[in-house]
Amino acid sequence: MKTWELNRCVVLAGVELEPHWCDRLVVQDGVIQDMVLGDRCMTLETGALVVMPGMVNGHTHMGDSCLPDGATGMTLEQGFFRPQGYKYRELAKQTETEHLGHIAAHLQYMARTGTIAHFDFREQGAYGSQLLRTAAQQTGVRSVVLGQFNELPFTAEELQQNRVGLREGAIAQLQDILSVADGFSESTMNDLTDAAWKQICDLTTQQGKLRAIHCLENDGYRTVSLEVTGKGDLERAIALYHPDLVIHATVANPTEIAMLSQHRTNVVLNPRANANLGLPLPPIAQLLQSQANLLLGTDNGLLNSPNLFAEMDFTYKVAKSQFGDAVHPDPVDILKMTTSNLRHVPIPDLHGYLEPGLPADLVVLNFHQPHLRATRHLIASIVTRVTPEDVVLTLRQGQVLYQNQDWSLAAASPSLDTQSL
Ligand SMILES: [Zn+2]
Repeated sequence: MKTWELNRCVVLAGVELEPHWCDRLVVQDGVIQDMVLGDRCMTLETGALVVMPGMVNGHTHMGDSCLPDGATGMTLEQGFFRPQGYKYRELAKQTETEHLGHIAAHLQYMARTGTIAHFDFREQGAYGSQLLRTAAQQTGVRSVVLGQFNELPFTAEELQQNRVGLREGAIAQLQDILSVADGFSESTMNDLTDAAWKQICDLTTQQGKLRAIHCLENDGYRTVSLEVTGKGDLERAIALYHPDLVIHATVANPTEIAMLSQHRTNVVLNPRANANLGLPLPPIAQLLQSQANLLLGTDNGLLNSPNLFAEMDFTYKVAKSQFGDAVHPDPVDILKMTTSNLRHVPIPDLHGYLEPGLPADLVVLNFHQPHLRATRHLIASIVTRVTPEDVVLTLRQGQVLYQNQDWSLAAASPSLDTQSL
């Protein structure tokens, strides 16, 4: 495997993402071997290469990336709900080869926008999970595959009565999904019975698999759950399913925010996708002041591009508006949502920060660009000004996922060790 060496760059070091001058950054055998840090560096005069952790997208549905903007003008139910929602009708028409090509192309786009991994809610049962696995193998992007049932295993009446658990056929399907996937996901708590949630929790625990669920995307999630079970969907998820990732929390009220805080829940916010559906924006400011661990996602590939730079910019500005001042939040708290906050999610091969001995999951940004080179706040500029065109190199475990071919690293940065490139 290639050895990389960068000299006199800036590195966002450790879990706090502190920018430091770095005289020597060495990547060998996929691991950061050496990181010789100098002074702290929040401003630049004439630019630099800036090395940050490779970003992780906390929530995607990349299977839907074959239908960009296809649900324009549709409601959430018309666009995205089983069995007759637009996405389910259209996905059924894709051949395997077509679909795989779309997914792989979008994973490559993620890599060129600085993302090395994503947590994906993958529809279409074990087949769907395998399709994403193949695309991930083709591109080198780490897809954390969270599979779901191809068809709901309960009738509307059974869900209303909330008594039966998963039958043998559904359990066999679940076993198939988990044999391919990293974990399980489902659209809402209202799609399965309480008994089924407990079965899934037990099985995933036995197999060491992840659990994820959309909660509180709109008030209907909570209302339906309350009507059927006497508990809101978030309360029910925490009690029965012990989710590793709760997605959305768009309409979380103060009691629910306290619940997320108390359990130190990993909450994935998707503000651009929420806005695109005309939903309220998540209470980002309140959640940032809680003990919940926040990640950012771009959600459905149909609704929103999987570009985390755009997501961070939007999130930061919405959060400022919600705080009601120009001071909060600190932009580093937004950057952590795509990087070092990941360390609290139980996934052993992803870390979200840079330190000697950790895998070389990193992105090199070209801060020689005119709009970046004289930054007066490097972190704020990453969050609000960096575009995909400013990404020079994306590595995962030292392997190149993306390298900008048009731009000569050596020419723009004479101190760079050209030998190793
Ligand atoms: Zn989603």
